[in-house]
This record gives sequence, structure tokens and C-alpha cells, in this order.
Amino acid sequence: MLPYSIFLVASGLLLSVAERFWPREARQGFFRLPPDAILPLRHLLELNGLASQPLWLQTLVLLVSKDFLQWLVHNLMHRVPALWQFHKTHHSSTDMDWLSNWRFHWFEIVVYQMVLYVPATLLGFSAEAAFGCAIISTAVGHFAHANLRVRIGFLKYIVNSPEMHTWHHVHPDEGPPDRNFAITFAVWDWLFRTSYLPAEFPRRLGIRS
Ligand SMILES: [Zn+2]
Ligand SMILES: [Zn+2]
Repeated sequence: MLPYSIFLVASGLLLSVAERFWPREARQGFFRLPPDAILPLRHLLELNGLASQPLWLQTLVLLVSKDFLQWLVHNLMHRVPALWQFHKTHHSSTDMDWLSNWRFHWFEIVVYQMVLYVPATLLGFSAEAAFGCAIISTAVGHFAHANLRVRIGFLKYIVNSPEMHTWHHVHPDEGPPDRNFAITFAVWDWLFRTSYLPAEFPRRLGIRS
């Protein structure tokens, strides 16, 4: 039987999305706080004016915040056995090229899009910023999975790349598992000591069958 906690979370998420599409009162915000509420969240919500900021700034803030959350989720997908069952589809390729960026279980899309919803709701971005963010993260994703023997110098500390991401896909007999979780920005792996970058590219990719 479905655990009650899962039912609560799932029904809450479903209704939050439904309220966005078919609101009885369109002006009502997602978060409603009393005027004198002293909460850290309140300061965060004051940033809601971000939608009126220049497009490049909105895109950058959305990109960085959602990428960090997705980096955390990617970590969990490797460490929680139930989530790994979905994520291992992405790691099952023994050959990798840019198209591998699109090889994943549909459940992953649901999870990653829910993560995107957090900064978008809290900070209030324009549709153009969300679009710009999607373009950049897709382009970096293609690049990181591409069958390219290239090195990007100092930029490897900032942006994900083939030299980092092939080691994320290394076969467990050939290299350490659970490294280089970067999706767009490599900086999280360097900051949180999950980076792994030997001089050579790995010779064998994939998972144990
Ligand atoms: Zn992974
Ligand atoms: Zn990958």
C-alpha cells in the first residue's frame, strides 16, 4: 500500500501545479506570509522582483541555483538505491557521444523539472530566462557527453566537460564510482571534493550488468 507520507507529498505537488494552471484567485501567491513575519524566507521572497532585472542576470541566477539543486539530486540518484534504479539507464551506455545526453528514464525528467520549480517559484523568473537557462544547460550537456578528446584548461574548474564527465560514466572496474556529478557547472564537484580527473580519459564506460 502507498505510504501515507508519499501520498501527502505527491498530492501536495500535484495540487500546487494544478493551482498554477487553474487558479480561482490568480493574484494569490504560492507563499503567503503575515506582514510582520520575521522569517529568512521573507528576505528571499523580496527577491521576487528578479523578473524585472536584466535578462542576463535572471538567466545566470536561475542557472546557478537550479544547477546546484540538480547537482544535489544527481548525488542522491547515485547514493539512494531506489533512485539509482532510474538513473542507471543513463549510465548503461558503453559508448558515449552527445546524444547520450538524452538517454535517461522518464522519471528523471519529472524529478529534475520539480527541482527547477523551486527557484522559479521562490525568485520569480521570466519565461525568457527559463528558456535561456534551458538552452545553456542543454548545450553544456551535449558538450560534456560528446565523443571529444579535448581539454578546456582552467575552465574545467567552472564548466562541465568531456574530460570530467567521461569519468562520471567510467565502468566500476576501471575507476572510482560516484565522482563528477556536475551537470552544467563543474565548480560544485571541486568545492565539495567529489571531483576526479586523472591525466588520461577512461578506457571503459558503463555499469556492471
Ligand atoms: Zn550519474
Ligand atoms: Zn552523463
